[in-house]
Order: sequence, then structure tokens, then C-alpha cells
Amino acid sequence: MPTYNFAAGPAVMPEPVINQIQRELPSLGGSGMSITEISHRSAAFTDIIERAEADLRALMDIPDDYAVLWMQGGGTGQFAAAPLNLATTHQRIALLDSGHWAVRAGDEATSLGFKVDVVGSTKADHYHTLPELAHPLTAGTYDYLHITTNNTIEGTAFHQLPATNGTTLVGDMSSNILAERYNVRDFGLIFAGAQKNLGPAGVTIVIVRRDLVHQVSHLPSMLNYQLFMDKHSLYNTPPVFAIYACGLVLQWLREQGGVDEMERRNREKSGRLYDFLDESKLFYNPVTSNARSLTNVPFMTGDADLDAQVIAACQAAGLMNLKGHRSVGGLRASLYNALPLAAVDALIDCLYHFEKDHA
Ligand code: PMP
Repeated sequence: MPTYNFAAGPAVMPEPVINQIQRELPSLGGSGMSITEISHRSAAFTDIIERAEADLRALMDIPDDYAVLWMQGGGTGQFAAAPLNLATTHQRIALLDSGHWAVRAGDEATSLGFKVDVVGSTKADHYHTLPELAHPLTAGTYDYLHITTNNTIEGTAFHQLPATNGTTLVGDMSSNILAERYNVRDFGLIFAGAQKNLGPAGVTIVIVRRDLVHQVSHLPSMLNYQLFMDKHSLYNTPPVFAIYACGLVLQWLREQGGVDEMERRNREKSGRLYDFLDESKLFYNPVTSNARSLTNVPFMTGDADLDAQVIAACQAAGLMNLKGHRSVGGLRASLYNALPLAAVDALIDCLYHFEKDHA
């Protein structure tokens, strides 16, 4: 019986990549040294990071006037880095409150002394829909508008971006980068921790329009976009292994057909699950249909004890890590790029039989 990992992050990685890492771990490229042992200044690692960037650029169609930075500190680090680097004119940002991670981003900016205006929120609706701008943004008021393109916990995603009226858009793409097509040009900044769609935890992707990056004083070096841009992400020791593993995932993504193919597969995977849930008399997904995420699907029975039984039944069938986030409860299936369609079919089969037995 195969094991399928529905974790929200760190999450499933492509099996061929795990196998390649295993093969190459003792000796990278016949060097007699492991990737975990080589210098970040070595020729071997220079090739790895340059190729990874080229593959990411090709996959996301990143224009030359955008820099790609490999940073540390996760999405949470970027909740600080984004305002510190970009909110330097008005010290004021607009935020669409679509759930937990948007709130966290706003709280971090507030704690650093920035003014954060929530310009739309679906909190009152338990985040089952996506917020719209309550009023059009006035030009020249905000340094940027922050959105969470995919809400990992609530299971919503912006498939259409808000009209910003010329205000720079910042996207926290932590849970759907490379899983669905976005136009990089619509954003001034995109960031994402690697540990969902890209590789192991420990590295954070930052894609930023170069003209937004400038020297800011009193900034910790590790959060300084200008410094990381000037030093090609090698100001200090980067997470060598994590970047190597991301590089292998990026190669795999290109071989598989790239972002459009991933989006097609993710639509198919999530579509099958949503169809099942919508038909079910026991389970439901609470999200409005046009706001539904392709990568994170929360669902529940409405009875916490029954939910726990479902999770146990799934686990017994090799379907792992389906417990929902504590703020939403129930179950959550994360269907990132590396999760095969067979995993979703196995999940639906398990839920179907559970429902039949509990009718
Ligand atoms: N943003 C989103 C959308 C997330 O899902 C997460 C992590 N689950 C974060 C930010 C925080 O990322 P990290 O744990 O890498 O700091």
C-alpha cells in the first residue's frame, strides 16, 4: 500500500527527486564529496544556483528587470523584509485580509512601526470567500498592497488579482508558487517559502522588480534586498542543500511540462475532490466555489469526533497528515505539485467508504 502525504508544509516532494538526492548524497557529480559538505563558493554550487535561477525564470517567465533572491527566514521573514525594503516612502501599506497569514503579515508590519490599513476583509464570513477592495486604492497613499495569493489554512486562492490602480502589488505566494499561472509583471514583489511546492524548508524565494530595490539604512543584512541582489544571494552562507534540492525540483517541473501543466493537474486533482465533497451528504467544503484553492482543500463533517475518526481511517489507509489546521478544524488535503492524482483518488475512495459505513 503506498503512503500519500497530504501535509500542508513541509510537504510531499517528487519521488524521482528524492531518489536522485539519495543517489547523489554521498558524492555530488563524482566529486567524492556530499552536497552537504561543499562550499557555497565552489564551482559546483555556482552551477547549481545559477541553473536553479535560470529554471525558475523559465518556469515563471520572470522578466530580466526582476531579481531572484534566495533568502532565509521563510514567509515570516518576508513579512518583515517586504515593508522594511519597500515601504520607505509612505511607511504605509494596504492589506487584503484573507485569513491567518495575511493577518500575520499585517501584525509583523505593524510591530515594526508601519501603518497597515486593512482595505478589505472576509473575517466576518470566516474567510470562506475572498476580500475585495472596499474602495479603490488612492494613488500615492500606499507603498504597496499585500495579498496572500493562496490561503493555505482557509483553502482560498486569488485566481484573479485585485485592481490596484497603480499601487505596487506584493504577493505572498508561499502555498501556490509554481502551482498555478500568475503573471510576474502584475507584482512588484513575490515571495514564497520553499517547503510546499519547491523543496525542503530553509530557503525562501524572493522575486522583486529591480527598480523597487534601493539602499535602506538600519536594515539587518539578512533582510536586505539590495545586499542580496548585489551579492547574488551569496552575502553569507546560503542554505546549500535546500537550494540544491529546489534546483532538482525545478528541473523536474520543467520535464513535466512546467507551470501550465502543473495548473492543469492541480485543477484536475482539486476538481475531483471538490466534486466528491459537493456530492457528499457527510462531508463539505465551506469555501465559495470561485474562491477555492487548487492546492489546499479543507473539509469536515461538522462533528469533531467524527472528523477524528475519518483522519484515523485515512491514516490506516496510508493517507497521511490530513488533520486540518486548528483554527478551521476538520481535515485539510494539500495537493501540491508533487502529489500524484492517484493520491486524490485514494483519498476519495477512503472518504466514500467511510461515508457509506456511517450512513
Ligand atoms: N504565508 C503562507 C501563505 C503560508 O502558508 C505560510 C506557512 N504555512 C507562511 C506564510 C509562513 O511561512 P514560514 O513558515 O516559511 O515562515
